[in-house]
Amino acid sequence: MTRRRRPDVHTPLLDPSVDHALQAIVEGRSTESTCTTDLAAGPWDFDTRPGYGPGSSMGDVIPTGAPRQGELPVEYREASEDELHARIDAAKLALGERVVVLGHFYQREEVVRHADYVGDSFQLANAALEHPEAEAIVFCGVHFMAETADLLSQPDQSVILPNLAAGCSMADMADIDQVEDCWEQLADVYGPLDEPDADGLVPVIPVTYMNSSAAIKGFVGRHGGIVCTSSNATTVLEWAFARGRRVLFFPDQHLGRNTAKAMGVPLDRMPMWNPRQPLGGSTVEQLQEGRVILWHGFCSVHRRFTVDQIAEARATHPDVRVIVHPECPAPVVDAADESGSTAYIRRAIEEATEPTTFAIGTEVNLVRRLAAQNPQHTVFCLDPVVCPCSTMYRIHPGYLAWVLEELVAGHVQNRIQVSDDVAAPARVALERMLAAKP
Ligand code: SF4
Repeated sequence: MTRRRRPDVHTPLLDPSVDHALQAIVEGRSTESTCTTDLAAGPWDFDTRPGYGPGSSMGDVIPTGAPRQGELPVEYREASEDELHARIDAAKLALGERVVVLGHFYQREEVVRHADYVGDSFQLANAALEHPEAEAIVFCGVHFMAETADLLSQPDQSVILPNLAAGCSMADMADIDQVEDCWEQLADVYGPLDEPDADGLVPVIPVTYMNSSAAIKGFVGRHGGIVCTSSNATTVLEWAFARGRRVLFFPDQHLGRNTAKAMGVPLDRMPMWNPRQPLGGSTVEQLQEGRVILWHGFCSVHRRFTVDQIAEARATHPDVRVIVHPECPAPVVDAADESGSTAYIRRAIEEATEPTTFAIGTEVNLVRRLAAQNPQHTVFCLDPVVCPCSTMYRIHPGYLAWVLEELVAGHVQNRIQVSDDVAAPARVALERMLAAKP
Protein backbone atom coordinates (compact mmCIF):
# COMPACT_ATOMS: atom_id res chain seq x y z
CA MET A 1 0.00 0.00 0.00
CA THR A 2 1.20 3.51 -0.74
CA ARG A 3 0.11 6.77 0.81
CA ARG A 4 -2.02 9.11 -1.33
CA ARG A 5 -0.24 12.40 -1.73
CA ARG A 6 -0.11 15.10 -4.38
CA PRO A 7 3.35 15.33 -5.96
CA ASP A 8 5.37 18.41 -5.14
CA VAL A 9 4.10 20.59 -7.95
CA HIS A 10 6.54 23.39 -7.20
CA THR A 11 9.38 21.29 -8.57
CA PRO A 12 9.44 20.72 -12.33
CA LEU A 13 9.30 17.00 -13.06
CA LEU A 14 12.54 16.53 -14.89
CA ASP A 15 12.06 12.81 -15.45
CA PRO A 16 8.83 12.44 -17.43
CA SER A 17 8.84 8.64 -17.19
CA VAL A 18 5.65 7.31 -15.63
CA ASP A 19 7.25 3.89 -15.52
CA HIS A 20 10.09 5.23 -13.39
CA ALA A 21 7.51 6.83 -11.08
CA LEU A 22 5.66 3.51 -10.78
CA GLN A 23 8.88 1.59 -10.07
CA ALA A 24 9.78 4.13 -7.38
CA ILE A 25 6.34 3.75 -5.77
CA VAL A 26 6.62 -0.03 -5.73
CA GLU A 27 10.13 0.08 -4.29
CA GLY A 28 9.12 2.58 -1.59
CA ARG A 29 11.35 5.35 -2.97
CA SER A 30 8.42 7.68 -3.66
CA THR A 31 5.59 9.17 -1.67
CA GLU A 32 3.35 9.30 -4.74
CA SER A 33 0.53 6.79 -5.08
CA THR A 34 -0.80 4.77 -8.00
CA CYS A 35 -4.16 3.24 -8.82
CA THR A 36 -2.43 -0.13 -8.93
CA THR A 37 1.14 -1.18 -8.29
CA ASP A 38 0.59 -4.00 -10.82
CA LEU A 39 1.35 -1.52 -13.60
CA ALA A 40 5.01 -1.59 -12.58
CA ALA A 41 5.16 -5.17 -13.88
CA GLY A 42 5.57 -6.12 -17.55
CA PRO A 43 2.30 -6.22 -19.52
CA TRP A 44 3.03 -9.91 -20.21
CA ASP A 45 2.28 -10.47 -16.53
CA PHE A 46 -1.08 -8.72 -16.37
CA ASP A 47 -2.11 -9.71 -19.92
CA THR A 48 -2.62 -13.23 -18.63
CA ARG A 49 -5.62 -12.13 -16.57
CA PRO A 50 -9.13 -11.59 -17.92
CA GLY A 51 -10.33 -8.02 -18.49
CA TYR A 52 -8.52 -4.82 -19.30
CA GLY A 53 -7.02 -4.25 -15.85
CA PRO A 54 -5.06 -3.25 -14.05
CA GLY A 55 -5.23 0.51 -14.03
CA SER A 56 -7.73 3.10 -15.15
CA SER A 57 -9.68 0.57 -17.12
CA MET A 58 -9.79 -1.98 -14.31
CA GLY A 59 -13.57 -2.33 -14.42
CA ASP A 60 -13.75 -2.79 -18.18
CA VAL A 61 -14.06 -6.15 -19.85
CA ILE A 62 -12.27 -7.09 -23.06
CA PRO A 63 -15.02 -7.79 -25.59
CA THR A 64 -15.47 -11.28 -26.97
CA GLY A 65 -13.33 -11.84 -30.02
CA ALA A 66 -10.91 -8.98 -29.23
CA PRO A 67 -7.36 -9.83 -30.33
CA ARG A 68 -5.11 -11.30 -27.65
CA GLN A 69 -1.35 -11.08 -27.68
CA GLY A 70 0.67 -14.28 -27.77
CA GLU A 71 3.57 -14.72 -25.36
CA LEU A 72 6.50 -12.37 -25.88
CA PRO A 73 9.77 -14.31 -26.21
CA VAL A 74 11.64 -14.45 -22.91
CA GLU A 75 14.68 -12.53 -24.19
CA TYR A 76 12.51 -9.42 -24.52
CA ARG A 77 10.74 -9.95 -21.21
CA GLU A 78 14.00 -10.24 -19.30
CA ALA A 79 16.04 -7.57 -21.09
CA SER A 80 16.97 -4.43 -19.17
CA GLU A 81 15.64 -1.02 -20.19
CA ASP A 82 19.06 -0.06 -21.61
CA GLU A 83 19.36 -3.29 -23.58
CA LEU A 84 15.93 -2.81 -25.11
CA HIS A 85 16.76 0.77 -26.10
CA ALA A 86 19.96 -0.42 -27.77
CA ARG A 87 18.14 -3.19 -29.64
CA ILE A 88 15.37 -0.84 -30.81
CA ASP A 89 17.94 1.71 -32.00
CA ALA A 90 19.88 -0.97 -33.87
CA ALA A 91 16.75 -2.41 -35.51
CA LYS A 92 15.57 1.04 -36.59
CA LEU A 93 18.99 1.79 -38.03
CA ALA A 94 18.97 -1.48 -39.97
CA LEU A 95 15.47 -0.82 -41.31
CA GLY A 96 16.09 2.84 -42.21
CA GLU A 97 13.28 4.29 -44.31
CA ARG A 98 11.55 0.93 -44.50
CA VAL A 99 9.84 1.65 -41.18
CA VAL A 100 8.06 4.58 -39.51
CA VAL A 101 7.42 4.44 -35.77
CA LEU A 102 4.46 6.43 -34.46
CA GLY A 103 3.99 7.25 -30.76
CA HIS A 104 0.73 8.51 -29.28
CA PHE A 105 0.81 11.41 -26.81
CA TYR A 106 -0.34 9.03 -24.06
CA GLN A 107 2.35 6.46 -24.74
CA ARG A 108 5.00 5.70 -22.16
CA GLU A 109 8.24 7.68 -22.39
CA GLU A 110 10.43 4.63 -23.01
CA VAL A 111 8.52 4.04 -26.25
CA VAL A 112 7.95 7.66 -27.30
CA ARG A 113 11.70 8.31 -27.38
CA HIS A 114 11.91 5.91 -30.34
CA ALA A 115 8.98 7.43 -32.24
CA ASP A 116 9.56 9.30 -35.50
CA TYR A 117 6.32 11.18 -34.85
CA VAL A 118 4.45 11.91 -31.62
CA GLY A 119 0.86 13.14 -31.74
CA ASP A 120 -2.81 12.31 -31.37
CA SER A 121 -4.31 9.44 -33.30
CA PHE A 122 -5.37 11.43 -36.35
CA GLN A 123 -2.14 13.43 -36.55
CA LEU A 124 -0.23 10.16 -36.49
CA ALA A 125 -2.35 8.54 -39.19
CA ASN A 126 -1.66 11.60 -41.34
CA ALA A 127 2.06 11.46 -40.55
CA ALA A 128 2.08 7.92 -41.89
CA LEU A 129 0.61 9.26 -45.16
CA GLU A 130 3.81 11.23 -45.68
CA HIS A 131 5.78 8.01 -45.92
CA PRO A 132 4.40 5.93 -48.79
CA GLU A 133 7.91 4.49 -49.19
CA ALA A 134 7.81 2.81 -45.75
CA GLU A 135 6.97 -0.90 -45.84
CA ALA A 136 5.84 -0.89 -42.24
CA ILE A 137 4.17 1.59 -39.92
CA VAL A 138 4.63 0.60 -36.29
CA PHE A 139 1.81 2.28 -34.39
CA CYS A 140 2.58 2.62 -30.68
CA GLY A 141 -0.95 3.43 -29.64
CA VAL A 142 -4.10 1.32 -29.34
CA HIS A 143 -6.03 -0.91 -31.72
CA PHE A 144 -8.46 1.60 -33.27
CA MET A 145 -5.56 3.93 -34.06
CA ALA A 146 -3.73 1.22 -35.98
CA GLU A 147 -6.96 0.49 -37.87
CA THR A 148 -7.28 4.17 -38.83
CA ALA A 149 -3.68 4.20 -40.03
CA ASP A 150 -4.42 1.10 -42.10
CA LEU A 151 -7.47 2.81 -43.64
CA LEU A 152 -5.35 5.77 -44.72
CA SER A 153 -2.13 3.99 -45.70
CA GLN A 154 -1.13 2.34 -48.97
CA PRO A 155 -2.43 -1.21 -49.55
CA ASP A 156 1.11 -2.63 -49.62
CA GLN A 157 2.08 -1.04 -46.30
CA SER A 158 1.79 -3.07 -43.11
CA VAL A 159 0.46 -1.33 -40.01
CA ILE A 160 1.79 -3.06 -36.91
CA LEU A 161 0.47 -2.83 -33.34
CA PRO A 162 3.33 -4.06 -31.12
CA ASN A 163 0.99 -5.58 -28.50
CA LEU A 164 -2.40 -6.82 -29.74
CA ALA A 165 -3.84 -6.48 -26.24
CA ALA A 166 -3.54 -2.68 -26.53
CA GLY A 167 -7.24 -2.00 -27.09
CA CYS A 168 -9.24 1.01 -25.98
CA SER A 169 -11.91 0.40 -23.39
CA MET A 170 -13.93 3.35 -24.65
CA ALA A 171 -13.86 2.23 -28.29
CA ASP A 172 -14.94 -1.24 -27.21
CA MET A 173 -17.99 0.14 -25.40
CA ALA A 174 -19.74 0.46 -28.78
CA ASP A 175 -19.54 -2.80 -30.67
CA ILE A 176 -21.00 -3.13 -34.13
CA ASP A 177 -23.78 -5.53 -33.14
CA GLN A 178 -24.99 -3.15 -30.44
CA VAL A 179 -24.91 -0.21 -32.84
CA GLU A 180 -26.82 -2.13 -35.55
CA ASP A 181 -29.40 -3.11 -32.94
CA CYS A 182 -29.71 0.51 -31.77
CA TRP A 183 -30.23 1.63 -35.38
CA GLU A 184 -33.09 -0.85 -35.83
CA GLN A 185 -34.77 0.34 -32.64
CA LEU A 186 -34.41 3.97 -33.72
CA ALA A 187 -36.11 3.09 -37.03
CA ASP A 188 -39.07 1.79 -34.99
CA VAL A 189 -39.27 5.16 -33.22
CA TYR A 190 -38.59 7.56 -36.13
CA GLY A 191 -39.66 5.58 -39.19
CA PRO A 192 -37.38 5.04 -42.23
CA LEU A 193 -34.02 6.56 -41.27
CA ASP A 194 -32.89 7.37 -44.80
CA GLU A 195 -36.00 9.36 -45.80
CA PRO A 196 -35.67 13.16 -45.52
CA ASP A 197 -38.64 15.20 -44.25
CA ALA A 198 -40.11 18.29 -45.91
CA ASP A 199 -37.07 20.31 -44.75
CA GLY A 200 -34.68 17.82 -46.32
CA LEU A 201 -33.54 16.45 -42.95
CA VAL A 202 -33.31 12.74 -42.16
CA PRO A 203 -34.40 11.64 -38.66
CA VAL A 204 -30.91 10.94 -37.33
CA ILE A 205 -27.28 11.24 -38.42
CA PRO A 206 -24.77 8.86 -36.80
CA VAL A 207 -21.54 10.54 -35.61
CA THR A 208 -18.66 8.51 -34.25
CA TYR A 209 -15.64 9.75 -32.38
CA MET A 210 -12.31 8.78 -33.91
CA ASN A 211 -11.92 6.51 -30.86
CA SER A 212 -14.05 3.74 -32.32
CA SER A 213 -13.44 0.58 -34.27
CA ALA A 214 -13.20 0.54 -38.06
CA ALA A 215 -16.46 -1.44 -38.08
CA ILE A 216 -18.21 1.48 -36.39
CA LYS A 217 -16.65 4.00 -38.78
CA GLY A 218 -17.87 1.78 -41.62
CA PHE A 219 -21.39 1.73 -40.15
CA VAL A 220 -21.37 5.52 -39.98
CA GLY A 221 -20.14 5.77 -43.56
CA ARG A 222 -22.93 3.47 -44.78
CA HIS A 223 -25.64 5.49 -43.02
CA GLY A 224 -24.82 9.04 -44.12
CA GLY A 225 -22.74 9.79 -41.02
CA ILE A 226 -19.35 11.16 -40.18
CA VAL A 227 -16.31 10.79 -37.90
CA CYS A 228 -15.13 13.50 -35.48
CA THR A 229 -12.08 14.19 -33.36
CA SER A 230 -11.94 16.11 -30.09
CA SER A 231 -10.59 19.06 -32.12
CA ASN A 232 -13.39 19.28 -34.68
CA ALA A 233 -16.45 17.92 -32.83
CA THR A 234 -18.32 21.26 -33.05
CA THR A 235 -17.78 21.55 -36.81
CA VAL A 236 -18.88 17.95 -37.27
CA LEU A 237 -22.05 18.40 -35.20
CA GLU A 238 -22.90 21.50 -37.28
CA TRP A 239 -22.41 19.37 -40.40
CA ALA A 240 -24.72 16.72 -38.96
CA PHE A 241 -27.44 19.18 -37.85
CA ALA A 242 -27.48 20.59 -41.38
CA ARG A 243 -28.51 17.13 -42.59
CA GLY A 244 -30.52 15.56 -39.80
CA ARG A 245 -33.10 16.29 -37.10
CA ARG A 246 -30.83 14.79 -34.49
CA VAL A 247 -27.52 13.04 -33.95
CA LEU A 248 -26.63 9.62 -32.57
CA PHE A 249 -23.21 10.22 -30.99
CA PHE A 250 -20.89 7.41 -29.95
CA PRO A 251 -18.98 6.02 -28.17
CA ASP A 252 -18.02 8.88 -25.77
CA GLN A 253 -21.03 10.42 -24.03
CA HIS A 254 -18.86 13.14 -22.47
CA LEU A 255 -17.41 14.52 -25.69
CA GLY A 256 -20.90 14.46 -27.20
CA ARG A 257 -22.50 16.16 -24.19
CA ASN A 258 -19.78 18.78 -23.70
CA THR A 259 -19.76 19.72 -27.38
CA ALA A 260 -23.54 19.87 -27.80
CA LYS A 261 -23.95 21.77 -24.52
CA ALA A 262 -21.46 24.40 -25.68
CA MET A 263 -23.52 24.70 -28.88
CA GLY A 264 -26.64 25.46 -26.82
CA VAL A 265 -28.36 22.07 -26.87
CA PRO A 266 -30.21 21.69 -23.52
CA LEU A 267 -29.20 18.68 -21.40
CA ASP A 268 -32.78 17.40 -21.34
CA ARG A 269 -32.62 17.03 -25.11
CA MET A 270 -29.68 14.64 -24.88
CA PRO A 271 -31.16 11.24 -23.99
CA MET A 272 -28.73 8.44 -23.14
CA TRP A 273 -28.50 5.20 -25.10
CA ASN A 274 -27.46 2.31 -22.88
CA PRO A 275 -27.08 -0.66 -25.25
CA ARG A 276 -28.05 -3.09 -22.49
CA GLN A 277 -31.56 -1.65 -22.10
CA PRO A 278 -34.59 -1.56 -24.44
CA LEU A 279 -34.65 1.76 -26.33
CA GLY A 280 -31.33 2.46 -24.66
CA GLY A 281 -33.11 3.12 -21.37
CA SER A 282 -34.91 6.20 -22.77
CA THR A 283 -38.60 6.68 -23.50
CA VAL A 284 -40.07 7.15 -26.98
CA GLU A 285 -40.88 10.76 -26.03
CA GLN A 286 -37.32 11.45 -24.89
CA LEU A 287 -35.97 10.03 -28.13
CA GLN A 288 -38.43 12.03 -30.22
CA GLU A 289 -37.53 15.25 -28.40
CA GLY A 290 -33.83 14.42 -28.41
CA ARG A 291 -31.32 16.47 -30.42
CA VAL A 292 -28.29 14.37 -29.49
CA ILE A 293 -28.61 10.73 -28.43
CA LEU A 294 -25.55 9.94 -26.33
CA TRP A 295 -24.10 6.44 -26.35
CA HIS A 296 -23.33 5.19 -22.85
CA GLY A 297 -19.53 5.13 -23.33
CA PHE A 298 -16.70 6.89 -21.56
CA CYS A 299 -12.92 6.99 -21.19
CA SER A 300 -11.80 5.35 -17.95
CA VAL A 301 -8.82 7.70 -17.78
CA HIS A 302 -10.68 10.97 -18.20
CA ARG A 303 -13.55 9.88 -15.97
CA ARG A 304 -11.13 9.98 -13.03
CA PHE A 305 -10.99 13.79 -13.02
CA THR A 306 -13.29 15.52 -10.53
CA VAL A 307 -14.55 18.95 -9.53
CA ASP A 308 -12.94 18.41 -6.10
CA GLN A 309 -9.52 18.02 -7.73
CA ILE A 310 -10.03 21.36 -9.47
CA ALA A 311 -11.10 23.00 -6.19
CA GLU A 312 -7.97 21.64 -4.50
CA ALA A 313 -5.74 22.92 -7.30
CA ARG A 314 -7.30 26.38 -7.02
CA ALA A 315 -6.94 26.37 -3.23
CA THR A 316 -3.26 25.47 -3.50
CA HIS A 317 -2.49 27.70 -6.49
CA PRO A 318 -4.87 30.69 -6.69
CA ASP A 319 -3.51 31.66 -10.14
CA VAL A 320 -3.67 28.16 -11.59
CA ARG A 321 -4.91 27.73 -15.16
CA VAL A 322 -7.01 24.56 -15.32
CA ILE A 323 -7.33 22.87 -18.72
CA VAL A 324 -9.15 19.57 -19.15
CA HIS A 325 -9.87 17.25 -22.06
CA PRO A 326 -13.48 17.19 -23.34
CA GLU A 327 -13.66 13.45 -22.56
CA CYS A 328 -14.00 14.56 -18.90
CA PRO A 329 -17.51 14.70 -17.37
CA ALA A 330 -19.46 17.95 -17.97
CA PRO A 331 -19.22 19.27 -14.36
CA VAL A 332 -15.41 18.97 -14.61
CA VAL A 333 -15.34 20.79 -17.94
CA ASP A 334 -17.61 23.49 -16.47
CA ALA A 335 -15.34 23.93 -13.44
CA ALA A 336 -12.17 24.19 -15.56
CA ASP A 337 -10.92 27.39 -17.16
CA GLU A 338 -10.65 25.77 -20.57
CA SER A 339 -11.19 22.44 -22.26
CA GLY A 340 -9.62 21.14 -25.42
CA SER A 341 -7.97 18.28 -27.27
CA THR A 342 -4.47 17.04 -26.51
CA ALA A 343 -3.16 19.27 -29.29
CA TYR A 344 -4.97 22.26 -27.73
CA ILE A 345 -3.53 21.52 -24.28
CA ARG A 346 -0.02 21.21 -25.66
CA ARG A 347 -0.31 24.43 -27.62
CA ALA A 348 -1.75 26.34 -24.64
CA ILE A 349 1.24 25.40 -22.48
CA GLU A 350 3.84 26.03 -25.15
CA GLU A 351 2.37 29.38 -26.16
CA ALA A 352 1.99 30.83 -22.64
CA THR A 353 4.48 33.71 -22.60
CA GLU A 354 4.61 34.23 -18.80
CA PRO A 355 5.59 31.51 -16.30
CA THR A 356 2.26 29.89 -15.48
CA THR A 357 0.94 27.13 -13.24
CA PHE A 358 -1.15 24.65 -15.23
CA ALA A 359 -3.34 21.93 -13.75
CA ILE A 360 -4.14 19.50 -16.55
CA GLY A 361 -6.93 16.97 -16.80
CA THR A 362 -5.65 14.42 -19.26
CA GLU A 363 -3.50 11.29 -19.36
CA VAL A 364 -0.50 11.42 -17.05
CA ASN A 365 2.19 10.39 -19.59
CA LEU A 366 1.41 13.48 -21.67
CA VAL A 367 1.17 15.75 -18.62
CA ARG A 368 4.56 14.69 -17.25
CA ARG A 369 6.17 15.04 -20.66
CA LEU A 370 4.75 18.56 -21.01
CA ALA A 371 6.04 19.39 -17.53
CA ALA A 372 9.53 18.22 -18.45
CA GLN A 373 9.49 19.97 -21.83
CA ASN A 374 8.28 23.29 -20.38
CA PRO A 375 10.34 23.94 -17.25
CA GLN A 376 9.46 27.66 -17.48
CA HIS A 377 5.98 26.63 -16.27
CA THR A 378 4.66 24.50 -13.43
CA VAL A 379 2.56 21.74 -14.98
CA PHE A 380 0.85 19.01 -12.99
CA CYS A 381 -1.87 16.42 -13.44
CA LEU A 382 -5.16 17.19 -11.67
CA ASP A 383 -5.36 13.58 -10.54
CA PRO A 384 -2.82 13.11 -7.72
CA VAL A 385 -2.79 9.34 -8.29
CA VAL A 386 -0.39 8.05 -10.97
CA CYS A 387 -2.82 6.15 -13.19
CA PRO A 388 -1.89 5.93 -16.86
CA CYS A 389 -4.10 4.55 -19.63
CA SER A 390 -3.51 0.88 -18.91
CA THR A 391 -4.30 -0.23 -22.45
CA MET A 392 -1.86 2.21 -24.04
CA TYR A 393 0.65 1.14 -21.40
CA ARG A 394 0.70 -2.35 -22.86
CA ILE A 395 3.10 -1.13 -25.54
CA HIS A 396 6.20 -1.93 -23.51
CA PRO A 397 9.60 -1.35 -25.21
CA GLY A 398 10.01 -5.15 -25.16
CA TYR A 399 7.15 -5.48 -27.67
CA LEU A 400 8.56 -2.65 -29.80
CA ALA A 401 11.98 -4.34 -29.89
CA TRP A 402 10.32 -7.64 -30.83
CA VAL A 403 8.26 -6.34 -33.80
CA LEU A 404 11.21 -4.30 -35.13
CA GLU A 405 13.70 -7.18 -34.91
CA GLU A 406 11.14 -9.45 -36.55
CA LEU A 407 10.88 -6.92 -39.40
CA VAL A 408 14.67 -6.94 -39.76
CA ALA A 409 14.43 -10.72 -40.05
CA GLY A 410 11.75 -10.35 -42.74
CA HIS A 411 8.71 -11.24 -40.61
CA VAL A 412 5.69 -8.98 -40.17
CA GLN A 413 4.16 -9.57 -36.75
CA ASN A 414 0.87 -8.16 -35.43
CA ARG A 415 -0.36 -6.66 -38.69
CA ILE A 416 -3.67 -4.80 -38.32
CA GLN A 417 -5.74 -5.05 -41.49
CA VAL A 418 -9.23 -3.72 -42.03
CA SER A 419 -11.28 -5.81 -44.47
CA ASP A 420 -12.26 -4.14 -47.76
CA ASP A 421 -16.00 -4.23 -47.07
CA VAL A 422 -15.46 -2.23 -43.86
CA ALA A 423 -12.64 -0.05 -45.16
CA ALA A 424 -14.56 1.49 -48.09
CA PRO A 425 -17.46 3.02 -46.08
CA ALA A 426 -15.12 3.87 -43.17
CA ARG A 427 -13.01 5.95 -45.57
CA VAL A 428 -16.19 7.71 -46.75
CA ALA A 429 -16.94 8.72 -43.14
CA LEU A 430 -13.38 9.98 -42.68
CA GLU A 431 -13.48 11.89 -45.98
CA ARG A 432 -16.72 13.60 -44.91
CA MET A 433 -14.93 14.73 -41.77
CA LEU A 434 -12.00 16.13 -43.75
CA ALA A 435 -14.40 17.97 -46.07
CA ALA A 436 -16.55 19.41 -43.23
CA LYS A 437 -15.74 23.09 -42.76
CA PRO A 438 -16.57 25.37 -39.82
S1 SF4 B 1 -7.04 7.29 -22.78
FE1 SF4 B 1 -9.18 6.56 -22.83
S2 SF4 B 1 -9.88 6.88 -24.96
FE2 SF4 B 1 -7.58 7.01 -24.93
S3 SF4 B 1 -6.90 4.91 -25.45
FE3 SF4 B 1 -6.96 5.07 -23.18
S4 SF4 B 1 -9.05 4.29 -22.64
FE4 SF4 B 1 -9.07 4.76 -24.84
